[in-house]
Amino acid sequence: MSTAGHFIRCLAAVAWEAGKPLVMEEVEVAPPQKHEVRIKVHFTSLCHTDVCFWEAKGQTPLFPRIFGHEAGGVVESVGEGVTDLQSGDHVLTIFTGECGNCRHCHSEESNMCDLLRINTERGGMIHDGESRFSSNGKSIHHFLGTSTFSEFTVVHSGQVAKINPEAPLDKVCIVSCGLSTGLGATLNVAKPKRGQSVAIFGLGAVGLAAAEGARISGAGRIIGVDLNPNRFEEAKKFGVTDFVNPREHDKPVQQVIIEMTDGGVDRSVECTGSVQVMIQAFECVHEGWGVAVLVGVPRQDDAFRTHPMNFLNERTLKGSFFGNYKPKTDIPGVVEKYMNKELDLDKFITHTVPFSKINEAFDYMSKGECIRCIIDMGA
Ligand code: NAD
Ligand code: ZN
Repeated sequence: MSTAGHFIRCLAAVAWEAGKPLVMEEVEVAPPQKHEVRIKVHFTSLCHTDVCFWEAKGQTPLFPRIFGHEAGGVVESVGEGVTDLQSGDHVLTIFTGECGNCRHCHSEESNMCDLLRINTERGGMIHDGESRFSSNGKSIHHFLGTSTFSEFTVVHSGQVAKINPEAPLDKVCIVSCGLSTGLGATLNVAKPKRGQSVAIFGLGAVGLAAAEGARISGAGRIIGVDLNPNRFEEAKKFGVTDFVNPREHDKPVQQVIIEMTDGGVDRSVECTGSVQVMIQAFECVHEGWGVAVLVGVPRQDDAFRTHPMNFLNERTLKGSFFGNYKPKTDIPGVVEKYMNKELDLDKFITHTVPFSKINEAFDYMSKGECIRCIIDMGA
């Protein structure tokens, strides 16, 4: 019997309180409304953003809530007005969207959709502000419009990328967020030329994805900068050739890198969120042609301070949101890069847990033990 048009009862991992383990329970998922699709989630993965909002330190707490945004699944049914997706399509959910109609979506240069740009405060769907989830009659908030820690979820169709049905969802689910953010920052924004040197600041999932972009570009030298020496062993698998631990030097990191590279790196990508590191990443690129790209999310009161001469000497500073990929238009192409073996995803996946043990994924992430932990919804 088709479930389209009906409520679906299924299991979800509900966060009832900040920092408290998620509770596995039965929830009701309403049918998709206008411009929405309901998706059966097959695999989801845990990202730092989920952990940050679950801890709710520095953010407005919004509970109960179903977290999760990196996921691969299959469309179960579609709501009114959805013409580009149908039941059975293989899809990735994306935390930021592409409405297709706004100035940003019409511009070839932007992925910052006016309608569906990331919104961490919203707990309901755009169409009516309501939630599609409830538990014993109590409404549960959405997260990033995706809420993938549920066997079924409802997502705006502008936040759904239709991908090759042959792509293994247990691998390509990580393309949803962190992987594409780092990869695109290098491939789409820093754009290193073959043989050039690239410095990557911060070797978490995003930084390692930026390193993967440098490897794909044929960079000659990839310098990884991190305070955590444990990151260096892992990073070798990602083609990182040199390591700098700022703690082991008494001069500024930019000076260390300038000396290592005879004047500075050709490109740098900052993936830490520290404003001091952003300044280092800019000041270590070579004058004349160096390009630095900021990816990390700074604190609210941070200010970037550098001497204007650094710009006059023809260094370029750029920033990137979601790797400058348009979610619906470009993400299927990232999956194709994996399918034709240009992009390696397997090395990012360090752990897998069944859905029933989702709290273990939070432990791995909090302890800094994993790059990506896949949560298998069917296990
Ligand atoms: P992560 O915490 O896993 O990795 C950050 C790494 O930076 C860690 O290994 C840490 O040891 C290192 N680090 C911290 N301070 C440092 C310093 N002073 N010098 C050198 N290394 C330092 O984080 P992640 O998941 O890889 O995300 C990285 C950043 O990207 C975060 O700020 C995140 O919010 C941001 N992000 C941005 C976008 C975007 O679209 N721009 C999207 C997703 C995530
Ligand atoms: Zn738009």
